Amino acid sequence: MGPFLYVTDLHGDRRKYERTLSLAVETGAWLVLNGGDMFPHGRMQEDQGEFLREFLDPHFARYQEAGIRYFGFPANDDLRVHDPLFDEICSRYPLVENIAGRKVAAGPYEFLGFNLVTDFPFRLKDRARMDDGAFAFPAQFGTGVLSRPGGWEEIPDWKAYARTLPTIEEELAALPPPGDPSRAVYVIHGPPAGLELDVVRGGQRVGSPATARFIRTVRPRLTLHGHIHESPDESGVWMGRLGETVCIQPGQSASGLSVVVGELEEMRFDRRILPVGCNG
Ligand SMILES: [Zn+2]
Repeated sequence: MGPFLYVTDLHGDRRKYERTLSLAVETGAWLVLNGGDMFPHGRMQEDQGEFLREFLDPHFARYQEAGIRYFGFPANDDLRVHDPLFDEICSRYPLVENIAGRKVAAGPYEFLGFNLVTDFPFRLKDRARMDDGAFAFPAQFGTGVLSRPGGWEEIPDWKAYARTLPTIEEELAALPPPGDPSRAVYVIHGPPAGLELDVVRGGQRVGSPATARFIRTVRPRLTLHGHIHESPDESGVWMGRLGETVCIQPGQSASGLSVVVGELEEMRFDRRILPVGCNG
């Protein structure tokens, strides 16, 4: 069935979207997986909505025309207020799926997506959760905010609010179970703890212990992560194993497109950094 491509944290970079599509065509890929943080940076609601309508919608149409499947989801920098629009756009293209919290069968495999993240210092809390019941919150940059239609809801006491939400551990446990874990591929935006896939600038490890435990328990074929763009540069590691499960976090490069070309049958993976040119 040919290779698949995995990209993550494109943050609205149109050149990286274009390069991903051209690489998919060049390599004969049957599927592109996007690990989230798909829309432009920033807290301007209009910018992200415009990107969805003006770029992502026609971009997905090109995947549909090319006969290439595209599975992705919005993650922590993609405002939750745009989830209905993202779903609406995906629903126009039979080959395009929002896999957040869902299980989608494709060929002999099942793909499951998870777009909530372990809490961080940043103020936008649309998809932030305590990792587990014993979670120690990191220092915060300010009060929390949630995206709401037309504006923002400020959350003055974020920690108290977060304690009312299910944890990452509980949210992962609520995912639909795979039919056959050895044929299941999970796209989980945040990296697991303990594999050096979670190293931020300066060396701190911020990965999710609950995600690592979940992977060890479910034992899927493959897990794909993102979220910490700089981690592979900091640790020198982009692939690891938890038990038999291969875990990949290719990061995202400031200088080019970070992309993994993978083969699921043979379990071969190649991480590339491709130039993307300077305009577009
Ligand atoms: Zn992220």
